[in-house]
Amino acid sequence: MPRNEPPTTEPATESTDDHEEQTAAVLELDGVTKEFGPEAAVEDLSLSVDEGELLTFLGPSGCGKTTTLRLIAGLTEPTSGTITIAGETVAGDGHFVAPEDRDVGLVFQNFALFPHLDVAENIAFGIDSWAKADREDRVDELLELVGLEDHREKMPSQLSGGQQQRVALARSLAPQPDVLLLDEPFSNLDIRLRVEMREEVRRILKEAGVTAISVTHDQEEALSISDRVAIINDGHLEQVGKPETVFENPESKFVASFLGRASFLTGRVRGDIVETTLDTLSTDQINGPLSAYDGARIDVLVRPDDLEATPIDESMADGHIVHRQYNGPNFVYRVELNDGGVVRCLHNHVKTFEHGQPVAVDIVADHPLAWYPVD
Ligand code: ATP
Repeated sequence: MPRNEPPTTEPATESTDDHEEQTAAVLELDGVTKEFGPEAAVEDLSLSVDEGELLTFLGPSGCGKTTTLRLIAGLTEPTSGTITIAGETVAGDGHFVAPEDRDVGLVFQNFALFPHLDVAENIAFGIDSWAKADREDRVDELLELVGLEDHREKMPSQLSGGQQQRVALARSLAPQPDVLLLDEPFSNLDIRLRVEMREEVRRILKEAGVTAISVTHDQEEALSISDRVAIINDGHLEQVGKPETVFENPESKFVASFLGRASFLTGRVRGDIVETTLDTLSTDQINGPLSAYDGARIDVLVRPDDLEATPIDESMADGHIVHRQYNGPNFVYRVELNDGGVVRCLHNHVKTFEHGQPVAVDIVADHPLAWYPVD
């Protein structure tokens, strides 16, 4: 569908995805690789995104998130693999559709509003070829969606950061793109506004019903706004799933380390129990069957809320408090264990332990813990 024209209803394509009950995949990446010289920024990436879904690429700096976004937008051409948007192959198999001919919207980090256009004119920018009445209706609809009905004649310089972001979103949504791409959408906002705008941006995207891909290195942001999170490591897709799935069942140690403040306890499998440096864990405290690992060493994932520190006499201690982080409602204590390992324990703000305090550390998790074989 060409840009700048009122949309028509397109037939939904059948999806082969089995991750959700939804069936229409709007975006599909199949074996996409992008090399810069000898280095692959993105390698053999396959993924499909359903209609109306909000998927976030999450990963450390340099892992290939922005390159993936640019490949979808058409700003970069893949070295191999195919990209399909709404059933049309836009890259690969001898095709390459230019960015302006893809039905893709982009929301930039810095919002990139036109300073000489007012709010309504900014929003109308991408639909200037629509009939005047359609265009005005669409602008009114979007002003209401983003809650800026009373600001339509303001200039961007008269808006707060959050309001500018609403205008940028409305402008990108105006032509009803098949896919909306958001590049680090909250990085330009101060921390308090960031949390507020996360909820607001999710509401707007969901009300608009648009298929959206966002990119971030902020795990909390990814977990809180997304329907699914795709974790990228060094150009590879490590895991994709619902936020609670990737958080609770990280498939690799990389994903585990990247989500939440992970620590690992060394353990030894003995039949159907695991002896760790702290407690002995029974089968129901551990994820999945252990039978193939009898006698093996494993690393058990523990996050701060899985552990509890209790002051104790030096002779009975598992370790010592080496750092205290005060967060207002709670403390996170870093404990150096006697074997040299380091774990973190989350405690209510009234539990004040001093630096150097000997402590016993107990596993208090009320869910099965993930674990990884030690190579
Ligand atoms: P960040 O969070 O820091 O933005 P990112 O995950 O978005 O990082 P990319 O910008 O996609 O990472 O970069 C992935 C890799 O590809 C990096 O090693 C980067 O140096 C390299 N790269 C990206 N663009 C180019 C380019 N045009 N030429 C050469 N190398 C590039």
